[in-house]
Amino acid sequence: MTRRFSKLGATRLNRNLFLGVLFCLGMSDFEKARSDGQSRIVSVGISSDPVRRSEDLKDLSRFDILGVSLGENLAEVRLSDKEFDDLKSMGFQFRFSPLNTQLARESEEPYLTPTQVLDGLARLAQSYPEFTELKTIGTTRRGRPVQAIVISAHPENLQQPALLFNAMHHARELMTTEVIMHMAQTLLQNYGRDPEITRWLDSSRIILVPQVNPDGNQLVHDGQSMWRKNAWETGGRTYGVDLNRNYPALWGECNGSSPSKTSDSFRGPEAASEPETNAMMKLVREEKPVANISYHSFSEMILYPFGCRSEKNPAVDLFKSIGLEMKENVIDDRGNKNTYAVGTAPELLYEADGTDADWQYREAGVISFAMEVNGRMQGFQPSYSKWRDQTVSRQEGAWKTLIRRTLAQGVKGNLRTGQTDLLSYRIKLEKNGTFEDFTGEDKSVKPFRPRSAEGFIYNVLLGGNYQLEVYSGGELLKAVPFTVEKNKVTDLGDIRI
Ligand SMILES: [Zn+2]
Repeated sequence: MTRRFSKLGATRLNRNLFLGVLFCLGMSDFEKARSDGQSRIVSVGISSDPVRRSEDLKDLSRFDILGVSLGENLAEVRLSDKEFDDLKSMGFQFRFSPLNTQLARESEEPYLTPTQVLDGLARLAQSYPEFTELKTIGTTRRGRPVQAIVISAHPENLQQPALLFNAMHHARELMTTEVIMHMAQTLLQNYGRDPEITRWLDSSRIILVPQVNPDGNQLVHDGQSMWRKNAWETGGRTYGVDLNRNYPALWGECNGSSPSKTSDSFRGPEAASEPETNAMMKLVREEKPVANISYHSFSEMILYPFGCRSEKNPAVDLFKSIGLEMKENVIDDRGNKNTYAVGTAPELLYEADGTDADWQYREAGVISFAMEVNGRMQGFQPSYSKWRDQTVSRQEGAWKTLIRRTLAQGVKGNLRTGQTDLLSYRIKLEKNGTFEDFTGEDKSVKPFRPRSAEGFIYNVLLGGNYQLEVYSGGELLKAVPFTVEKNKVTDLGDIRI
């Protein structure tokens, strides 16, 4: 045993004794648990201190971490026989996980399959033709379409802010697709009935991608219940790439993914190697959404950029403010509000690189969140009859908050010139008499681009005094000061360059 291990082991033992955590472990439970013939799931004790928790999870990240409970200081970890022996030598306390029953139960639960998702979207488009636009945004490794549905009273009008909601970068996170399909139905059924939803559809485009990874999801439905990645193959074998580690922002930069193709967090042979990743990137570049939620499960958390500890988020106050408001309105599995954890991946969990939220924010200034739905007792495939309807309705508060907040307060206008495709803009916030670059002094976050060919601009902002700076190439063309007040969108009208 290395010195490091014995030291860590002793630390963990002391800590767990201190916390009074008692784990009863019967080996027969573990034998019983291996229902997929290959793996078992254990609940591993992790520190309640954020720095030590991050170290614990970093050590555990060589295994497949399914999710965590920050309230109970537990991580659910899936292990092969060999990995189980490794875990035992690492000094962690652990016990049998209730999620073992999910290793091979998928066939019993009627979660949507890729075909059913496409059928469901087609039916919605047929039922609400004036309010929808179906888009195939890409094709997967195995030739399946990745589809988006645009929902708006004027889906063709690009002179209005767009919001994006997507699900299932990770194949086994079955509840996430249900959240988006429920959202589509709720928005469309309530136009003309619910005044707030009517107003939203009158004044924005809401773009939904219910299944980023249909290939992987089909593998789950075919019996590989713990499949996370897509269907990337090499040498005649399907290994899969973790699509939410494949984006070309911080790709492979902070040990927040794996270079090994057998790992569940394999980042891919190169950045943006996967067609599903490219489908989402093309959509974001075309639509330039103002804000986004990417749905994941499980852990009851709201995450925002950046996934690498070394990176500073210049708009962290805005992200935090919206994240906390979503937290106030999302209901957890116990029926309580205001319990989701809010922060960056390194603050709450461990570092993650190449994620979609980081890329969306850097590339197009998208105020982008990852939402981890459900708690550790529910896992990836909670009983459909008990949890499906309950979970999707409990999520409504969060996505409604993001839409409400995005459309309620910020700035809009039109950059009037013949060459909008060359223009970009920065928004600077006044602090102590000087203007600070809201998009990032280090230029890691690109300047914003107009959201339509007609030069439409829209940004959700905190209250304050700002300056809009319009550039062509690196040259400053115009600076316009403005103020954002609570619950108001400042309209700068036509900004003539
Ligand atoms: Zn996920």
